[in-house]
Amino acid sequence: MLWLDSPQRRAPEPSLGGGTTVDLVVVGGGFSGLWAAIQAKEDDPSRSVIVIEAGLIADQASGRNGGFCSSSLTHGLENGLARWPKELDRIEAAARENFAGIRASIERYGIDCGWEETGTLAVATAPWQLDGLHEGARLAARYGQRVDILDADQLRAEVDSPTYCGGTWLRDGEAMIDPARLAWGLADAARSLGVVIHERTPMTDLSRSGAAMSVRTASGTIRCGAVILATNAFRSPVKAINRMIVPVYDYVLATEPLSATQLESIGWQNRQGISDATNQFHYYRLTSDNRILWGGYDAVYHYGSKIDPSLDQSDVTHLKLADHFFETFPQLEGLSFSHRWGGVIDTSTRFSASFGTAFDGRVAYAVGYTGLGVGATRFGARVCLDLLYRPESDLLALKMVQRKAIPFPPEPVRWVGVELTRRALAKADANEGRRGPWLRLLDGLGLGFDS
Ligand SMILES: Cc1cc2nc3c(=O)[nH]c(=O)nc-3n(C[C@H](O)[C@H](O)[C@H](O)COP(=O)(O)OP(=O)(O)OC[C@H]3O[C@@H](n4cnc5c(N)ncnc54)[C@H](O)[C@@H]3O)c2cc1C
Repeated sequence: MLWLDSPQRRAPEPSLGGGTTVDLVVVGGGFSGLWAAIQAKEDDPSRSVIVIEAGLIADQASGRNGGFCSSSLTHGLENGLARWPKELDRIEAAARENFAGIRASIERYGIDCGWEETGTLAVATAPWQLDGLHEGARLAARYGQRVDILDADQLRAEVDSPTYCGGTWLRDGEAMIDPARLAWGLADAARSLGVVIHERTPMTDLSRSGAAMSVRTASGTIRCGAVILATNAFRSPVKAINRMIVPVYDYVLATEPLSATQLESIGWQNRQGISDATNQFHYYRLTSDNRILWGGYDAVYHYGSKIDPSLDQSDVTHLKLADHFFETFPQLEGLSFSHRWGGVIDTSTRFSASFGTAFDGRVAYAVGYTGLGVGATRFGARVCLDLLYRPESDLLALKMVQRKAIPFPPEPVRWVGVELTRRALAKADANEGRRGPWLRLLDGLGLGFDS
């Protein structure tokens, strides 16, 4: 995995060596857990905080993603407007504050994660996609974001692909980062604030213990006043979480670094993140050493919500991605791929996180980021802390926070529903975006499937 194969990778923290007692246990050492631990200490330095991580810090989605850090908390403005039209102004204000908070923390803690506020290009690869992109640009402008509409020539002057028909350049609230370096830097920041981190320490059980909670691990039990579950797509002891999300595999390729001539052949001087405008979309970007990271398209669900390291590779999807890459950039024919991997995202029916508590308010969680959690997890961690410690917080009054995503049905209906939806989305893409009866039914119910 490109980001995790780095000389900046730290030696792991020791696993938990026995029982202990603290104020707050955070379960999960990805962005959600690390932001929760940092903000818990920033709020109250006297609070004792332990993070336990089943594997290694950043080894799951947080170290495997595309590194698009978006300010959006709603998986895009269109989704936010469709679901929370009355409070989207307030949500967007929180989104701007959250994005600025990420930038400020990176500066304050001196985290070298290649943060580049390049903005993102949304590109149309067929004319039918242009209307939707232009509508999206008008919406972004209405919410105060700087956005340019580019015709095919203007777009190809930015990044040269013969497949492009036009697009938009969203200039605000979109940064490219190296996600593993961000997560490792956040772990260092947490430690500098006094957070204790134990890697290779899976939580095996969660239960009440009088007025407190008990977090059981193989090597000992932690008694604590409160718990934040930051376990993303993984199976949870809180059943509501398992109903609200499905684990969906997303796959990625990275090329060898481009030579100066290869880079010149595609332009890309402004180094924007790029995604295309189909339901099954690709996302791609340059890394700091000028590789192209190229991911997306297939979003694969395995029966029974299966997650397993054997699913991290998919020859079929990786080959498909490679074909699509050379269709987009034929001038790079002959370039090889140095890395390929996959990772699991917590897809929810509303494409954005749901927030909740369990065990009479002693346990808080935020799950369901659906492929856009690099930035939004910091906000989710903030909401978890407010649920536990600050009932007067304005954020808790948002409908987006109070109401949860509609759950997925149990198997086998779950698998059938996801497969039907995946096929219907592919068909819509092949049919100039026209949505068939199944997708229209889901749209009417406010349900969907995305990555
Ligand atoms: C291939 C891919 C590409 C993506 N691209 C983007 C992108 O470009 N932009 C974007 O915004 N988002 C993207 N995402 C989504 C983004 O990576 C996630 O939303 C985000 O990293 C979620 O962070 P997290 O901390 O909640 O989850 P994770 O990083 O998955 O962390 C959860 C952690 O909890 C641990 N855990 C689980 N159960 C237990 C237990 N019982 N005990 C202890 N620990 C446990 C796991 O080991 C894991 O490390 C992508 C995701 C993938 C997989």
